[in-house]
Amino acid sequence: MREPIIAGNWKMFKTVSEAQAFINEVKGRAEIDGVESVICAPFTNLPALVEAVKGTKIKVGAQNLHWEESGAFTGEISGAMLEDLGVNYVIIGHSERRAYFAETDETVNKKVHASFKYNLTPIVCVGEKLEEREAGQTKEVCKLQVNEAFRGLSKEQAAQVVVAYEPIWAIGTGKSSTAEDANEVITYIREQLIALFDVETANHVRIQYGGSVKPNNVREYMNQLSIDGALVGGASLDPNSFTQLVEGA
Ligand code: 13P
Repeated sequence: MREPIIAGNWKMFKTVSEAQAFINEVKGRAEIDGVESVICAPFTNLPALVEAVKGTKIKVGAQNLHWEESGAFTGEISGAMLEDLGVNYVIIGHSERRAYFAETDETVNKKVHASFKYNLTPIVCVGEKLEEREAGQTKEVCKLQVNEAFRGLSKEQAAQVVVAYEPIWAIGTGKSSTAEDANEVITYIREQLIALFDVETANHVRIQYGGSVKPNNVREYMNQLSIDGALVGGASLDPNSFTQLVEGA
């Protein structure tokens, strides 16, 4: 059985004091046996968050990392630095990073390998653009992104990856994919993992849906057979709504 995982992606929101206040609000609430809850926050919040979640079930993630351990890469943060802080997760290849910061399938793969080197669990984002969806290319796009992201991983590593299927047209738009459509794509992604590795490995991989998930629709997704959780932007910023999302899983 795969443990459901609800991850909040705060994107570029919240100061340190706002992050601390958030954890104080969700402590003891967004903590449910059998559900993993994760907050992926801006780098500046991570030390305070790691401290604030001590003694809770809530895990902390970053939203990016550089694949090198250290070096002349102005403005970048390495996996070694995140591991040193006590961070558990890292989002890799979010569509906003692919679109605005020129991330490619190749750099995504390097980052996935780096995450394992530094004991971070990667949350790898894949998903199609609106025009790709309209052209009937959804599965093809996801297949390519999954193949590239998992390239060179051992079965043991692959089994630990969390994949987030986030159709780009559904992010921050209020236009969510239907639960059935998301389930179909996610089932297809798992089939790709079976082809790349084997059934046992693929059955371990948790695959989330992301894109306009809210407390009032999270259950529709969670009721689908293949969907193991959600990666949530906007609705993860409010403590009550994040708690409801975890409860809905
Ligand atoms: P929204 O939940 O705001 O649509 O964002 C989804 C997302 O990009 C999570 O990574």
